[in-house]
Amino acid sequence: QAKSEGRNTIRYFEPEMRMRAEARRVLEKELGHALEQGEFQLYYQPVLDLGSDHVTTLEALVRWEHPRLGMVSPDNFIPLAEETGQIIELGTWVLEQACRDASKLGKAYRVAVNVSPIQLRSRSFVSTVCRVLEETSLSADRLELEITETALIEDGQLAFTILRQLRDNGVRIALDDFGTGYSSINYLRQFPFDKIKIDRSLVTGAHLNSESAAFVRMIAALGNALDVSTTAEGVETIRELDLVRQAGCSHVQGYFLSRPVPLANLTPALNL
Ligand code: C2E
Ligand code: MG
Ligand code: MG
Ligand code: MG
Repeated sequence: QAKSEGRNTIRYFEPEMRMRAEARRVLEKELGHALEQGEFQLYYQPVLDLGSDHVTTLEALVRWEHPRLGMVSPDNFIPLAEETGQIIELGTWVLEQACRDASKLGKAYRVAVNVSPIQLRSRSFVSTVCRVLEETSLSADRLELEITETALIEDGQLAFTILRQLRDNGVRIALDDFGTGYSSINYLRQFPFDKIKIDRSLVTGAHLNSESAAFVRMIAALGNALDVSTTAEGVETIRELDLVRQAGCSHVQGYFLSRPVPLANLTPALNL
């Protein structure tokens, strides 16, 4: 029984696995050229402050416009770029582009940039951030760096040291995807994050799931008690918006407000 199952499994998965390995090799090779060719773009998704009803932050989300494959999602190439080390160069490009864009926006807006754990730990990260802020004349408090918990699991002390240096320079630090993976409340005791982003797996559909709703309320309450702002990610409907507002979240982000789009598509709505 087990044997035949094994055979079937192999027969079934083999072509798919070969294709995946193939696709991976191709992407890996092309990732190197993509930066030089200018194939990366930043999309932005607005974050709404529920207190003022104003958009306060734009999160930069990288897109790869591949000449043959079309738009490739970051979930497909960020892990690859992390494995090959190309994330350092790509991450620096994202940071430069986002800060350049932000410096052209009104002072009312800040940009949020996702930072890979590998990028965070690279020797020159703090100096790169300082250089980019200086070159783009962007004041540090208009840059928010989003760090996921996975960046803190291994050698958290090193990560916290780097985050502290950034924060001492005036950059804001957000804890991204909170409520997934190895979520530890302890991280919140070890570092004064400026923002907690509640993962969309807890938010989307929370009005239909009392357990998710309870977690959202708990995290919002924790944020309020610690004086840390909380952004609910993945708000897709007015139901979810009502729920997270009542839960006490300070900010929302999600398709209900806007999908990530090129900056030019947002500027008319931003009163610039
Ligand atoms: P993230 O930082 O948690 O970003 C939020 C993701 O959720 C984005 O996916 C966004 O498009 C999606 N999203 C936002 N609102 C909704 C919603 O209402 N419903 C649904 N279903 N999805 C929503 P995206 O752009 O595909 O990015 C995926 C992940 O890739 C990001 O998750 C982030 O971890 C990573 N990423 C994106 N850009 C960068 C980057 O420049 N550098 C690094 N290191 N990672 C990046
Ligand atoms: Mg993020
Ligand atoms: Mg997130
Ligand atoms: Mg995510």
